[in-house]
Amino acid sequence: MLKSGIYHEYKGCLHIHTTASDGTKSLEEVAETASSAGLDFILVSDHMTLKDKDEGKEGYYKKLLVLIGYEHNDRDDCNHYLLFGTRGVLPPSLTPKEYVAEGKRQSALGIVAHPDEIRPRLGKYPSYPWTAWDAEDYDGIEIWNQMSEWMENLKPYNKLKMVFSPRRFMRFPTDRILQKLDELSLHKKVAGLGGVDVHGYPYKIGPLRITIFPYKVQFKSLRTHILLREELSSDLETAKWQIYEGIKDCRAFVSNYRWGDASGFQFRGLRGSETVADGGYLASFDNSHLTVQSPDKATIRLIGTEGKIIEAKADHLEYEPRKNGIYRVEVYKRDRGWIYSNHIRIGQSF
Ligand SMILES: [Zn+2]
Ligand SMILES: [Zn+2]
Repeated sequence: MLKSGIYHEYKGCLHIHTTASDGTKSLEEVAETASSAGLDFILVSDHMTLKDKDEGKEGYYKKLLVLIGYEHNDRDDCNHYLLFGTRGVLPPSLTPKEYVAEGKRQSALGIVAHPDEIRPRLGKYPSYPWTAWDAEDYDGIEIWNQMSEWMENLKPYNKLKMVFSPRRFMRFPTDRILQKLDELSLHKKVAGLGGVDVHGYPYKIGPLRITIFPYKVQFKSLRTHILLREELSSDLETAKWQIYEGIKDCRAFVSNYRWGDASGFQFRGLRGSETVADGGYLASFDNSHLTVQSPDKATIRLIGTEGKIIEAKADHLEYEPRKNGIYRVEVYKRDRGWIYSNHIRIGQSF
């Protein structure tokens, strides 16, 4: 935890598989690895099972909070959806629109997984994009999924390099998905999140068997930082809903740890005595002020409803909005995506 202005910041990883489905490490091993990577929380989501949760394995492992949901898919194994806080695994017969709605009805947290996945070179491994955009009750979407980006960029000539140093090839979320997030955010609150989608698969390359994206490596890549108004409770049930509500409220930003620890990044909106962070709302642009604080000097880009507003190489940025709308921030290091905030909305509440 880091005290970040009036907020408490917690860093963690989302979308983790274990041996309860197709991952290669047990929940206990995953927790141990995440703990040594310095994470505050992890959100585990195996395919169509809540086995570990049912066995009472949710809770604190040393200082690490381990929360367990699951990854739902439709009858064709498409439209993957992460659900946290349902009373059980929802019926496999439901359509995506139905399982999204049912998640909402149960006040669960619902996240659209790898929504814009394209795997052009991997005939054997089909892609699993989200096609059910007519569903409306999801809380967030993965704007960056490590597995998806790796798969999309895999080409015959760079295969070896990509297998041996996968994190070097992580560049940005796609423009497609950022555009989608911006479009959706004009009409509703949607959290942009990072998903590691870790399985720890062994990969056969000639006589070698190596693991691309071992858990240890994944936990040092895409992280989701959540901002809470109060410290995370030591009581599991309370802490769980603090994390879920923080995400639903979009009080979060995404970072790639490969380019540095983004803890302490701040995107804030100020108006009079009011201060809001990612996900926050200010009544009017009049007398409003946006500030960005980066933990390191980097290229900071402020994006408004109509696209890029300003860009500067700095560790601090100030801006006085001239109109109502939605605003978010991207931070680049060495031309690679480092930090992605969620939107602050001005004059536009839902
Ligand atoms: Zn999936
Ligand atoms: Zn998955």
